Amino acid sequence: MDQQTSARAPARIIDGKAFAASLRARIAGHVTALKAQGVTPGLAVVLVGEDPASEVYVRNKGVATAEAGMQGVEHKLPAETPEADLLALVARLNADPAVHGILVQLPLPAHMDADKVIDAIAPEKDVDGFHVQNVGRLATGMDAMVSCTPLGCLMMLREALGDLSGLEAVVVGRSNIVGKPMAQLLLRENCTVTLAHSRTRDLAEVCRRADILVAAVGRPRMVQGDWVKPGATVIDVGINRIPAPERGEGRVRLVGDVDFDSAAKVAGAITPVPGGVGPMTIACLLANTVIAASRQAGLAPPADLAY
Ligand code: NDP
Repeated sequence: MDQQTSARAPARIIDGKAFAASLRARIAGHVTALKAQGVTPGLAVVLVGEDPASEVYVRNKGVATAEAGMQGVEHKLPAETPEADLLALVARLNADPAVHGILVQLPLPAHMDADKVIDAIAPEKDVDGFHVQNVGRLATGMDAMVSCTPLGCLMMLREALGDLSGLEAVVVGRSNIVGKPMAQLLLRENCTVTLAHSRTRDLAEVCRRADILVAAVGRPRMVQGDWVKPGATVIDVGINRIPAPERGEGRVRLVGDVDFDSAAKVAGAITPVPGGVGPMTIACLLANTVIAASRQAGLAPPADLAY
């Protein structure tokens, strides 16, 4: 009988929400310890314009920062702000010793060059891990600020699987913020890594090789159950809003890049959407801020947050 149609126990659900809650509790403990040494971790979040999704993300980050006992500062600029003004704000935040982490919420309005703005952030305060210095440091195996979403995925994979050494990992999506750093992190864990994208031939076949399958594409339910190797661990990064008329007119709901129902019948473990990768991303932003604050104060970052 085909393995995928034979009776299998349903996949274990990797509960990102619960994992993130325990990580945030540990982070709050580290914040208390840092405060006792005279260091209050400070995170500055900059939002340009009024993109509704970005406003929600920024609000959530503010709440999480306060809950962890950190100092959160929000800078909201109008959409028509000249790029030079944003760069001047970043320079001020770089020079502010109370600010240990700087996050400029993307996307930026079309008249701004996001690469230029990210490059202007001091690499040691780049808690998003997007600065080329941090990308290069990660790629060459040095201490780096690592992009929060792939870092959260890695933490969940370690929790689910322990040692990842020698496993076949397939990452679908090669963006600078998710796919590429995810591949780098998995390589550092000694996985054999394939980075797939829109030009990959026979993507389903490539995915079926994976012991670890990470989907970061932005296409609702693209990865089907018969793309999944039986017993594989599936991490669904996708956040897609699809119409949900059953919830009322004009309502939407979130689905991932993986067709959860079919994949969960084949996988060994899988992250849900929502409640999987999303909550871990914010927790990792807080972790990066604690790491940045420790390093800037000349202290060793907490060992349990090191990666
Ligand atoms: P991007 O649009 O930057 O990248 C998408 C990638 O998917 C590209 O590399 C693209 O390939 C690839 N792709 C597109 N179509 C296909 C296809 N048919 N087959 C194979 N590969 C394809 O997206 P992001 O990386 O920024 O985000 C990916 C998803 O993750 C989105 O749903 C986003 O909302 C979500 N996300 C979730 C976060 C969280 O906290 N949970 C955080 C960040 C993102 P190519 O390069 O060839 O064009």
